[in-house]
Amino acid sequence: MASVELHNIHKAYGALTVIHDISLAIEDGEFIALVGPSGCGKSTLLRMIAGLEEITDGDVSIGGQVVNAMTPRERNIAMVFQSYALYPHMTVAENMGFNLKLSGETKPVIAQRVNEAARMLDLTKLLDRKPAQLSGGQRQRVAMGRAVVRNPAVFLFDEPLSNLDAKLRVQMRSEIKALHQKVQTTSIYVTHDQIEAMTLADRIVVLNQGKIEQQGTPIELYRQPANLFVAGFIGSPA
Ligand code: ADP
Ligand code: MG
Repeated sequence: MASVELHNIHKAYGALTVIHDISLAIEDGEFIALVGPSGCGKSTLLRMIAGLEEITDGDVSIGGQVVNAMTPRERNIAMVFQSYALYPHMTVAENMGFNLKLSGETKPVIAQRVNEAARMLDLTKLLDRKPAQLSGGQRQRVAMGRAVVRNPAVFLFDEPLSNLDAKLRVQMRSEIKALHQKVQTTSIYVTHDQIEAMTLADRIVVLNQGKIEQQGTPIELYRQPANLFVAGFIGSPA
């Protein structure tokens, strides 16, 4: 677990600035939802925290240490995307253990961590299956399992449920909540679904055109939206 701090982050693609001076402090163990319309910079911000995208200006700190120069692996972060990107030729267990294998963990350690994560995510009976033999929800659970086995300091979720049907989204939402209650890992969860943000997050950060419009607890944003944009997004009349 670790705190995450963003200090005056800017991001430009050529002449186009897409993140404008964002500062944000996330506490150890906190669950933050990052919401905002398509194209407002959510994924770009997550990718900079993960180390997958260069930062134009500013610092990212994890656990009090500036990580700008660190590789994604060194940052000890796990990312869950909407496309699960499982390896089709590997079993569920192999998919979940693959990153640990790359890090040089021994077979017994890998087996133990995979079994533990499988119990947590109700995957124990599916460990020998291939991704093609799984439902969409099960694949998404494997993708989460792959993140959990690494015991990361921070989870980054980029719209992980947006490919699932409505019923499954509701179910997975409670599983993500239960998982966070168990592992208490600092989480940054990108979504454009305000219900997801309201039910999962300790705090919601509303982004618009690369800037923070407002941040607060779900209740604060619902009761006292700072402007019409936030009110429209969170779904209460301003
Ligand atoms: P969101 O995840 O909120 O939908 P993104 O972070 O993906 O938004 O994109 C923010 C802005 O940055 C958009 O205007 C997008 O077109 C632009 N953008 C994202 N990636 C690139 C890139 N590799 N090159 C140029 N522009 C990009
Ligand atoms: Mg995105």
